[in-house]
Amino acid sequence: MTKGVRVWLVGAGPGDPGLLTLKAARVLAAADVVVHDHLVSPEILARVPRRAERIYAGKERALHTLTQGEINALLVRYAREGKRVVRLKGGDPFIFGRGGEEALALARARVRFEVVPGITAATGVAAAAGIPLTHRDLAQACVLVTGSRRGGEIELDWHGLARPEQTIVVYMGLAGLERISRELIGHGLSPRTPAAIIQQGTMPGQRLVEGTLVALPRLAAKAKLRAPTLIVIGKVVGLRRGLGSLVGAVRAAPARRAVRRKAARKRA
Ligand code: SAH
Repeated sequence: MTKGVRVWLVGAGPGDPGLLTLKAARVLAAADVVVHDHLVSPEILARVPRRAERIYAGKERALHTLTQGEINALLVRYAREGKRVVRLKGGDPFIFGRGGEEALALARARVRFEVVPGITAATGVAAAAGIPLTHRDLAQACVLVTGSRRGGEIELDWHGLARPEQTIVVYMGLAGLERISRELIGHGLSPRTPAAIIQQGTMPGQRLVEGTLVALPRLAAKAKLRAPTLIVIGKVVGLRRGLGSLVGAVRAAPARRAVRRKAARKRA
């Protein structure tokens, strides 16, 4: 471990403990204090050494346990006490995880820290579910956006997003799914664009609902999906079907099967 480092901003990956990096596992095993958020899966938390102090920093929708300022102050305080502090975050610490803000706070307090990258939900969850985010013929670009709303409304560059040869991955998009679908179609994306929403990707409770862009909000509501969910929109989603039952994770998707069966009944 790098000398003088007191705090590690660690990405825990999307949930499956097998997707934790070797470096994350090593740093975690040596921690005195672990400050984690709600996205970190129980299997990964089970790897926190018993002697280490474990602090839940929260951050579920509308259920913030500690404010960002309090988390920053906590990391600085423990580091100054000489503890080895691991700030454990879901996915990658610098993708929609406020890891950047924590890094700035540590730098300002002149605390040495190291960033341990993690597999972000976009790449981890999509790939494990059989969705290649780029594909030579179908998507030359992939854009990651947040559907989280500041002051009630999602503000995204709809025009820039509504490109047929681009995959869109939306984090924190469940509550805004209806609007996302409407705006993208309104800005020119075909309503028949394949789209999927994956709940708890790579974890035992994974559920996946697939459909067209226009139908996805209705299908997701019907399946009663709950956060965390990841939305993937673009032609590449259609590749999943071709991969079919050969992708391990695809079979473990009860929501998708239920929705499909209902759709088949309707067609019949
Ligand atoms: N830093 C994290 C993202 C934090 S924002 C990362 O790099 O992945 C939290 C959002 O990430 C969730 O609301 C959801 O949109 C997404 N997410 C994280 N893990 C997920 C998972 N296992 N399945 C589905 N979505 C997930």
